[in-house]
Amino acid sequence: MKLKYKGHHVYTRRGVVGEKGKYKCLRCSNNQQNLFYTFKDLRGLCTYCLNCIALGRSDSLSPIFYEDTTRYTDHLNFTLNFELNSEQQHASDRIVSAIQNNHDLMLYAVTGAGKTEITFRGIEYARNNGLNVAFVSPRVDVVREIYMRLKDAFVTARIDLLYADEKIETDFVFTVCTVHQLYNFIEHFDVIIVDEVDAFPLDGDKILEKQIRRALTKNGSCILLTATPNRALLSGFKNSEIVTIKRRYHGYKLTVPEVIYRNIEKQFKKNKLDKTLKEYLDKSVKDKRKVLIFVPEIRMLAPFMAVLKHHYSKIDYVYSGDQSRKQKVEEMRNDTLDILVTTTILERGVTFKCLDVYVVHAEYFDSASLVQIAGRAGRKIIDPVGHVYLFTSHNTLALLKTRHTIRKLNKGEV
Ligand SMILES: [Zn+2]
Repeated sequence: MKLKYKGHHVYTRRGVVGEKGKYKCLRCSNNQQNLFYTFKDLRGLCTYCLNCIALGRSDSLSPIFYEDTTRYTDHLNFTLNFELNSEQQHASDRIVSAIQNNHDLMLYAVTGAGKTEITFRGIEYARNNGLNVAFVSPRVDVVREIYMRLKDAFVTARIDLLYADEKIETDFVFTVCTVHQLYNFIEHFDVIIVDEVDAFPLDGDKILEKQIRRALTKNGSCILLTATPNRALLSGFKNSEIVTIKRRYHGYKLTVPEVIYRNIEKQFKKNKLDKTLKEYLDKSVKDKRKVLIFVPEIRMLAPFMAVLKHHYSKIDYVYSGDQSRKQKVEEMRNDTLDILVTTTILERGVTFKCLDVYVVHAEYFDSASLVQIAGRAGRKIIDPVGHVYLFTSHNTLALLKTRHTIRKLNKGEV
């Protein structure tokens, strides 16, 4: 079933039940008492759940309704503009088999291995056998990108999109959404594909994990996709339920980042652009490459930008609260921009062609983040080898580990 605000079927007379100090939310199952808030309105005391407030208020005075799950068989065919190599084909077969045999599967694949595309055959099988499918991600930017890719591949499918600022709703047989949106579904999906499963906020969030299980039917399969699994995640799976892909889809290796010792902030605080950084950037721009520059903190964006603007005109910056984020990503794609300065918000999921990746003050980043960031480069077939430059004022264990991990992945060791 799908929970909703208005309707004929009452799921519960009250969204939040319980007495002072012992509340429970019946939409998201939250029972952590510090995540409830009580206030007084005209009807009396009203307690609402803070955990799922992003979906609208679940409170102690209002009912929650539901509608029954719709099921039907589709006749989908997908198109893919490249052929799966044998490793990808094997992973794709394993996903289909997991769905057929009602078990879970974890796909552990290096960034740029074509994880999304590897799920297409499974999605097609599921929909053509009347199974409801959800493709979910913890990251809002990734959700949109995935939706576009699925739309391109499954041209005749009706795909629902649910996330913070946008909703395209039909009948929820094939849905792309943020993980939080699953609070509204109970035993509704037969297949849930979770992208970037190690990413915030899913990592370690027990309530969300429970929610995925609740949204899944009893015999449903959960397919987890990850590039950087942590040990806790791996330990939850039997070896037979893990598929590994060690190569990117075009068969080229991951770029091993070049480390350059410079203190960029010291220079831009004096209103100067570091000479070495400028030489590298000039070369990237001259070679008609797109440039993403990652900075560790939002506060660096504006002063750094002020200095860069003296030298480059097609440049902008983006951060998590930026309303024009989508538009700026689009401007990078349509050549309005050459350089985009960003916080880690663009570390996952976003793909540009002919991209060089820069990190300034890489000493502030952890290794998982740097591996993700380095994986932004060289993701397109026409340009499989991008450059990755890590500017740092000193060496760190995370920097050593990043290069070590990437070399290991390139050798096929995981
Ligand atoms: Zn709740």
